[in-house]
Amino acid sequence: MSKPQADMTEKNTSVMMRNGFCKFFGIALLFVAFSVNARDHFVEKDTIYRRNLGVISKQGPYRPSRTLKNDLIHTRLDVEFDWLRQHVHGTAVIQFKPHFYPQNTLELDAKGFDIKGISQLDTDHNFGSESQKELSRHTAKKLDYTYDKRKLIIKLGREYNAKDTLYVKIDYVAKPNEIPRDQADDNPNDKGLYFINPDGQEEGKPKQIWTQGETDGSSCWFPTVDSPNVKFTQDIYITVDSTYKTLSNGLLISQEPDQSGLRTDHWKQTIPHAPYLAMLAVGDFAVAKDMMPNGLELSYYVEPQYGGDAHAIFGRTPEMMAFFSNIFGVEYPWEKYAQIAVRDFVAGAMENTTATVHEEGVQTDSRSILDGNSDAVIAHELAHHWFGDYVTAEEWGQLPLNESFANYSEYLWSEYYIGKNEADWQNLQELKQYLTEAETKQVPMIRYFYKNAENMFDSHSYAKGGRILHMLRKYVGDDAFFKSLQNYLKTHALGTAEISDLRMSFEKVTGEDLNWFFDQWFMRPGHPTLKIKQDYSSVTSKVQLKINQAQDTLATTVYRLPVKVDVWVGGKKNRYDVIVDKTSQIIELPAAKKPDLVIFDAESQLLANIEQEKDRSELVYQYNHAENFLPKYEALASLEGKLQDSTVRNVLIKAMTDPYWKLRQMAISNFAEYDGEGFAAVEKIIQSRARTDRHPQVRAEAIITLASFGDNNNDPVFREALSDSSYQVVSVAIDKYLIGQPNDANDVAAQFENSPNDAIVTSVGNYYAGQALPERYDWFLEKMKRMKPSEKYNFLQVFGKYLIKSKQDVQRKSIPVLEGIARNNPSYFVRFGAYQALGLLTDIQGVAAIRKDIRAKETEPKLKEMYTQFGEF
Ligand SMILES: [Zn+2]
Repeated sequence: MSKPQADMTEKNTSVMMRNGFCKFFGIALLFVAFSVNARDHFVEKDTIYRRNLGVISKQGPYRPSRTLKNDLIHTRLDVEFDWLRQHVHGTAVIQFKPHFYPQNTLELDAKGFDIKGISQLDTDHNFGSESQKELSRHTAKKLDYTYDKRKLIIKLGREYNAKDTLYVKIDYVAKPNEIPRDQADDNPNDKGLYFINPDGQEEGKPKQIWTQGETDGSSCWFPTVDSPNVKFTQDIYITVDSTYKTLSNGLLISQEPDQSGLRTDHWKQTIPHAPYLAMLAVGDFAVAKDMMPNGLELSYYVEPQYGGDAHAIFGRTPEMMAFFSNIFGVEYPWEKYAQIAVRDFVAGAMENTTATVHEEGVQTDSRSILDGNSDAVIAHELAHHWFGDYVTAEEWGQLPLNESFANYSEYLWSEYYIGKNEADWQNLQELKQYLTEAETKQVPMIRYFYKNAENMFDSHSYAKGGRILHMLRKYVGDDAFFKSLQNYLKTHALGTAEISDLRMSFEKVTGEDLNWFFDQWFMRPGHPTLKIKQDYSSVTSKVQLKINQAQDTLATTVYRLPVKVDVWVGGKKNRYDVIVDKTSQIIELPAAKKPDLVIFDAESQLLANIEQEKDRSELVYQYNHAENFLPKYEALASLEGKLQDSTVRNVLIKAMTDPYWKLRQMAISNFAEYDGEGFAAVEKIIQSRARTDRHPQVRAEAIITLASFGDNNNDPVFREALSDSSYQVVSVAIDKYLIGQPNDANDVAAQFENSPNDAIVTSVGNYYAGQALPERYDWFLEKMKRMKPSEKYNFLQVFGKYLIKSKQDVQRKSIPVLEGIARNNPSYFVRFGAYQALGLLTDIQGVAAIRKDIRAKETEPKLKEMYTQFGEF
């Protein structure tokens, strides 16, 4: 799964710019502030390694993998929907056998159902393909059961042993909105199955049904043993109005219309998978298709208006599938691969077997792809079809076996498809994301104790895990790394695994004991903090590195860190392998004279805080000579703000034409508000970047920087940029052009006010907000209604600006609108945006009380925590 919050910080840092030009700028800032504030209160250190059943640590109870009393073999479901009541009418036939010990009951998870009846079916028929009528003829006897709205315990009448195969049929009604929430670790927002706009009352929103099983949501819509160490095959029959399309796991076997305008779609998956990966979706979708050379079908389900863009959005999936099949050494193991975009999704995306669900923001028109595609999340979910779906973490505490691989696959794809610089830039952002989380939370990657499985879906399991796999790859080498992954996948194919299984595969392939690596990185919390001092002795002709491991070695450990060190002398580089493995140690490396530069961790692979002071000439040398992205990036970052120094200035001028876009962008941003020596030449270079740079983010940065100069030399550049191919550039250009109040400002705003791109509409909104004309009120409301959640937060800020400048009658009109969004919008950061906008209107009587009530009634844990911290603002 990829989480929406992670998406906010990780996927969009790449479009983050100064000047508010970032999809989630406001919210990203907020999270930074939040983590700093929360630092003192929440530092968790977990050093408990005992795994005794019944032990409760302060992190929560010990979590064993679920004991398997019975093995589920096959599940057949027949489902129909009552849209208005938001109920699922279902029949489940479950084929199972005792796992090892004799059993006289079958215990199932089933949350909040009405059970209509349970019976045992007689003989071994093909229960997957028979009609309901045929099925009912096989009913042998009614079975007794007990049910407490959570656990369904079916009494089998006698004891059966592991050689017996049994079939039970359960008729039930599932009520995903009426599930009792009476236990401490219940998440109030997990429904398993979601009805979107079920009564059709919400204008502009399609009617849809979709599911989200991870972690234990599937048992909200069908009875099952809802644990990741359970696997079964399935048939799902979905009966819907014949105007809808359906999607589920496996292949579509048949579509049977009936006389009443309904249709039953039969989906069949013959390869076993875990219950949390079961899915269905219903709605009006356009479907675009691709095919692999071996005939495997890939399909992309989008809302009809995006049908023509589906290939632009998802069209790299076939190459991705071939790439992953190749490097993982196991051909894509499933029957098809579909991706679907749905409204109001509760995660970023979800890797349901053969049927990945994406949040609606993945749908963009083809022109938006110029500003960035969704390949990272597409690669992430596809990679889960090996790591997660094919070999499954046996318990949520082992989640890095799923998420670290999916996360690292984003790096692998980027490295292969775009290049190493781009992959390393992503790597750096992931590293920062983990380090930010580590300020308030340091726990082992593999967690035997936790309060709520949701807590596993953090930047440890994702970002840190991906970086650990990168270090493992660097340590064992590419051949051994991918060979070990292949061994792991083949050994545990269609089964489950825990972390030691991964270690054993690496040990088997490399012949080396790797307990030290897995122990320090997967089993212990924290990360190394290295302080490095450098000295040169002309007597011994050696450069000396004094290295201290400054992390709290009681809470975490003293790390063993094999790294490479580059020593540059007289324009030539020598590379050395060294091992850092003491709290304090001195490493001496030969150097005929004082080195121009020493780069510790020359391959930029360590997950660590590294502090090594370098002077200006070393940093300049580092930018000019280092081969990898990170040392160049660090050099530019360290030179920031030193433009008065002509040496530094010349490096930054050179970097404005660096081959890699991120470095060009950094260099350009350094010249914001510059008015020093050589200004005219600098301005000319940046104008040229704004007009001709290959990368839209560099062009956008150039426009922002030019605008900061405050002269009007650049008005023609802004005017020209209004017809740039990139929406992102156009959106920045609109902002900057309209600030100058040109004569045609109103015409330009009108020209763009109906753009299909939300960021552009927000830029126009920003201009309209400044004018604060009362007749624009309806325009703001209309745009807000249509806007995707990702941009809606920003648009609410702009709307707030409009309201502040407006008269009280307009302000009053807006209160119920904002209140409605703050209470009911499905996305919590949009709710927060509306709540903030209401905060601008507290002079009006009653608004403070409304806000107080909104805070009190919020159920989303993340937003509740934000209200606790910032509620009064
Ligand atoms: Zn994932």
